[in-house]
Amino acid sequence: MSPTRMRLHISGIVQGIGFRPYVYRLARAFGLTGFVLNNTRGVEIEVEGGKPAVDAFAAELQAKAPPLARIVGIRQESIPARGETDFAIVKSQHDTDKATLISPDISICDDCRNELFDPADRRYRYPFINCTNCGPRYTIIKDLPYDRPLTTMSVFDMCAECRSEYENPADRRFHAQPTACPRCGPQLSLLDENGAPVDTSAPVTALVQRLQAGQIAAIKGIGGYHLAVDAENEDAVKRLRRRKMREAKALAIMIVSVEQARRFCNIDKTEQEVLESPQRPIVLLRKKASPSTLAESVAPGNPWLGVMLPYTPLHYLVLEKSLNALVMTSANLTDEPIAYQNAEAQTRLRNIADCYLTHDRDIYLRADDSVLRVIEQTPNMLRRSRGFVPIPVFLKRKLPPILAVGAELKSAICLSKGNRAFVSQHIGDLKNKETFDYFEQTVGHLSAMLDITPECIAHDLHPDYLSTFYAQQQNVRLCGVQHHHAHAVSCMAEHGIEHTVIAVCYDGTGYGADGAVWGGEVLLADYRKFTRAAHLQYVRLPGGNSAVKEPARMAMSFLHEIYRGDLAACPASLVKQYSAEQMAVLQKMLQSGINAPFTSSCGRLFDAVAALLNVRHQVAYEGQAAIELELLAHAAPPCSATYPAPIEACAEGNIIATPVLLRSIVEDIAAGTPREVIAAQFHNSVADFTAEVCQSTGRSHGINEVVLSGGVFQNFYLLTKTVGLLRARGFKVYYHTIVPPNDGGIALGQLMISQARLGGEEN
Ligand code: ZN
Ligand code: ZN
Ligand code: FE
Repeated sequence: MSPTRMRLHISGIVQGIGFRPYVYRLARAFGLTGFVLNNTRGVEIEVEGGKPAVDAFAAELQAKAPPLARIVGIRQESIPARGETDFAIVKSQHDTDKATLISPDISICDDCRNELFDPADRRYRYPFINCTNCGPRYTIIKDLPYDRPLTTMSVFDMCAECRSEYENPADRRFHAQPTACPRCGPQLSLLDENGAPVDTSAPVTALVQRLQAGQIAAIKGIGGYHLAVDAENEDAVKRLRRRKMREAKALAIMIVSVEQARRFCNIDKTEQEVLESPQRPIVLLRKKASPSTLAESVAPGNPWLGVMLPYTPLHYLVLEKSLNALVMTSANLTDEPIAYQNAEAQTRLRNIADCYLTHDRDIYLRADDSVLRVIEQTPNMLRRSRGFVPIPVFLKRKLPPILAVGAELKSAICLSKGNRAFVSQHIGDLKNKETFDYFEQTVGHLSAMLDITPECIAHDLHPDYLSTFYAQQQNVRLCGVQHHHAHAVSCMAEHGIEHTVIAVCYDGTGYGADGAVWGGEVLLADYRKFTRAAHLQYVRLPGGNSAVKEPARMAMSFLHEIYRGDLAACPASLVKQYSAEQMAVLQKMLQSGINAPFTSSCGRLFDAVAALLNVRHQVAYEGQAAIELELLAHAAPPCSATYPAPIEACAEGNIIATPVLLRSIVEDIAAGTPREVIAAQFHNSVADFTAEVCQSTGRSHGINEVVLSGGVFQNFYLLTKTVGLLRARGFKVYYHTIVPPNDGGIALGQLMISQARLGGEEN
């Protein structure tokens, strides 16, 4: 019988994860000849042999693929036999269509970890051990196809032994691009606070001693530097906070294993899986009630603790013994992007780090640690970066090439290619010059790697956002998208919803269609358009941006709304903190509206309540007061009481009378109700009026699906309460899991909306 030959095109994440050696072994096991190669569309295979063997090969190919492979499509065709005598792995082809999916950075695998601690292994204790199943990827790739010369590993010449492994299809390191050993690969060095090398033959041991002595170390990782201190040393953690100018925001810790982490947190089965997953994100876990050895200032007053397991061989060496938990926080000053280059790190961290554990493998592109939380057995993304980028969001429809540039504060961009949306890593606040450069670098890099020339750029309507400015500088068709519409559609796209839904979009700031500052919006939305079904009552934002930094101003704005000219009658202690002069200025601003635009922001409502409860009058970062108000609510005994917030029908949709709610809170404070009870009751009230508004909107439009989006829904107390109340009213509720609910997810919505508006589908 004549042999059968079949060609298979595999697309998905199939490069740099041991797919070709896997194909090689599988083909040989079935006694087939032919070849496998990487091209920029994915992997191409030709196999030849008896028909049953070829069929069996094709059937098994997907079922037994390596764990990190993500096969999106297999196309197969019969072709004439050629009669080779062997099966071969052929050199990469340079091709023009670079639709291949690039693998994200992956934590060290079990095999490599075993070798790391095996005294007989030639890579024993080598901090850069990796194989085709693990190691850095996205952050070291300069261009496609994924091959060593196009990575930052190109400067290291493989030794004979590494090369023979690299060229042996039966080896776990066959074509592992970052492969290295102590003889030929990157080297570690310990530097003192001035950047001078410390004379030591054991840099890790010397570093651990310094950490034990309370020093702050900058440690170079996968996507950038971390600042590390012993998490059980209160003084050291406090010093880190002081030097980093990070007053209260919780710090993440790294612990060697889930078993060790259980000393500090409760961890369920899903949380354990996520902690141990190859992506190794920071997972927000519930702290144990019992006192722990952890320094209180790691996450003060916080029921949650951000925990991650080691993900590089170096992390395992540092945490091998002596240290139970390390604070590992992105090496930057507030608002700046993470430091990632050696010289840059030593300049920027000069006044923070006491020493540097660094190495000579360059990071090409930054990536922070990803952060998520498990809700209802599902991981929910809060910051999407290392380990997840550049895995795309798979869409229901095919899009032409579009670039969406996101918003401004928690910037992330998104590019479309066919039915895939590539959301970039978290970039940060664009108002910072370095962050804006990083934004431009990411746009350039991601479009080059994916070979996308956008036909259209989708941007926020805010005229002052630097992302809008960037879009306007490009010579490409533009599509301006309303901020909260983008939030809504981002959540819809994640869940593949294309029909009209009710979208509750609660956040801090978004440019409204009427020029006001929106942020407490209930929309009826599809991909093309939206109408405003309801919103929080407009109040003044006194001083514009300074009201964001000073929640007390927001509280005064609400009080002005309630008490008008008679603010002296207000029993809130906050009022007494203002001098007569200050009060006069503020009241003038509130009455005239000069430099005090209207806002419906839900974030600002939280700010106002936080200020009234004296949680915080000024913030170091946006959302701080709201976060602390949530912590207070968690401290209350379970309660479901609410404050009334009347919903008033009006020509432009329902208006939720939040000042009425605030008045009850002021009265409750005066009556001496404990702060945490008020905080909990306030959260309940927001969930309650939200459910009420959805119910009336749903009834009049015959809709029973609600999506929840916007940064306010990072609030776990509010999210779970709202979901519960909506379900009790018979709604099907969707919230974010793949992209963050905050502005980090907004580019995905911009992308879908611009496609729906401008039309154009691609095959
Ligand atoms: Zn490995
Ligand atoms: Zn070597
Ligand atoms: Fe937003």
